[in-house]
Amino acid sequence: MARNVAHVVEADYSLKTYRCLRCGQVFTKEEQERLPGVRCPYCGFRIVEKVRLPVPKRVKAL
Ligand SMILES: [Zn+2]
Repeated sequence: MARNVAHVVEADYSLKTYRCLRCGQVFTKEEQERLPGVRCPYCGFRIVEKVRLPVPKRVKAL
C-alpha cells in the first residue's frame, strides 16, 4: 500500500512543476500556492510556464 502511495505522489509532483520566465527558477505548484495568484515564489514575476520534469526511471526488477 505504502509503495503505491509513494508512486502516485512522485508522478503528481512531476506534472505540477513550473518555471519562472524571468529568473528561470523551477518550483512546484505547492510552493506557488503559498502566494496569492500565480507568481514566482523567488522573484514575484507573474508569468510562469508549466514544465514536465522527467519522471525518475525505475529499474525494473525482473
Ligand atoms: Zn522568478
